[in-house]
Amino acid sequence: MRVVQKYGGSSLATPARILNVAERIARAYREHGPLVVVLSAMGDTTDELLALAREVSPRPHPDALDLLLSTGEVVSIALMEMALRDRGVPAVALMGWQAGIRTTPSFGRALIESVESARLERHLSGGKVVLVAGFQGVTAEEEITTLGRGGSDTTAVALAAALRAERCEIYTDVDGVYTSDPRVVPKARKLTHVTYDEMLELAHLGAVVLHPRAVELAKRYGVPLYVATSLDDREGTWIGGEAQDMEGGRVVTGVAVDESVARVTLRGVRPPEGALKRLFGLLAEAEINVDIIITSAAGPDGLDVAFSLEAGDLERAIELLAARRSSLAYDRLDAEGGLAKVSVVGAGMASRPGVAAGVFRTLADAGIDVKMVSTSEIKISVVVEREQARRAARLLHTAFGLDDEAAEAGGTPSPQGERREA
Ligand code: ADP
Ligand code: ASP
Ligand code: MG
Repeated sequence: MRVVQKYGGSSLATPARILNVAERIARAYREHGPLVVVLSAMGDTTDELLALAREVSPRPHPDALDLLLSTGEVVSIALMEMALRDRGVPAVALMGWQAGIRTTPSFGRALIESVESARLERHLSGGKVVLVAGFQGVTAEEEITTLGRGGSDTTAVALAAALRAERCEIYTDVDGVYTSDPRVVPKARKLTHVTYDEMLELAHLGAVVLHPRAVELAKRYGVPLYVATSLDDREGTWIGGEAQDMEGGRVVTGVAVDESVARVTLRGVRPPEGALKRLFGLLAEAEINVDIIITSAAGPDGLDVAFSLEAGDLERAIELLAARRSSLAYDRLDAEGGLAKVSVVGAGMASRPGVAAGVFRTLADAGIDVKMVSTSEIKISVVVEREQARRAARLLHTAFGLDDEAAEAGGTPSPQGERREA
């Protein structure tokens, strides 16, 4: 039986935590034999490296930045190899390139193209625990890349898929996937099972507990995911193919919050013919991701278009649209930062009417202004002022019956607070 485990930064933040994880890996090794373990950088290392780079260079060159950021994970695997060997566990530490992780050359957000698993297989056959640095890979030109923030989850699932592992276990600082971020919604409940599609939506919509691309890969290759804490042995959450509770089950599974959203509104875009093609073509060329789009009917004054985007891209978008005003004529550009997206997700939503109505009623009754809306079969997202986002999430969590009444309002979930769903 093959297993891939992954330990996140908070699980490795101090030497004591590293030793704790070493004990857990040693135990897994004694129970199952050889396994692959993906490690993140210790604690806030990646943030610290980023800050360090910015002190040296205002706009660090992407390939040098990736080389720098990749060192965080290397520290973790080297320390873990030492700790495991001290425990009599045969371990070998591999950087991403040594583990055969080949990526595209998009520095800072590289995609895994393939995993050449021969070396991993050899070490596994040799009875070893193989420690792999998460978040990194190598291009065809042998340059080091990173996969984007939170990308160690994706490394773990990619290795699990390549090695046809029975499951991929993600160990972190929460003991599973909750109905909402327990730091935002204290009454959030732990879920025992989430479908790939629900998790994909939650992750894309701001639930950082799993990297969205990790969930995507897990779904594509049918790798069951298990999310649990590295701090004790409490039962975590399974992410897999099928909903557990069939037709009687939940309509809403969770509420996600993304607190870094911005909006751009262009008024009087002319000529209206082909305006959308030109506008979004420009943004795509600049690799600016657009999320929700709203357009007016074209009138004599041209077309009005509003779109939301990642707050970090706002400045670049404004610069770009101002610079291209000759090819994209418009009367006015309004930009708004400080927004957030709150989303209600549930596989049961597709066949139940009234969820959108419930969202709007709840927010209107609380005096929370909805600036944009987008829906899919299994989610409804609203853009609101950032200051109101957490309150909106808590209200929606309550309105859709997700609250854990045993959890103390205002507190963080207590160890007994993660009553499982019936
Ligand atoms: P790691 O360092 O282990 O990768 P992350 O910080 O990336 O950990 O992810 C864990 C965090 O995700 C939790 O501390 C929690 O605040 C946050 N989180 C957001 N949404 C959820 C959710 N729905 N369920 C559980 N945790 C969530
Ligand atoms: N260390 C990287 C980050 O902080 C990757 C990860 O932790 O998944 O984003
Ligand atoms: Mg993470």
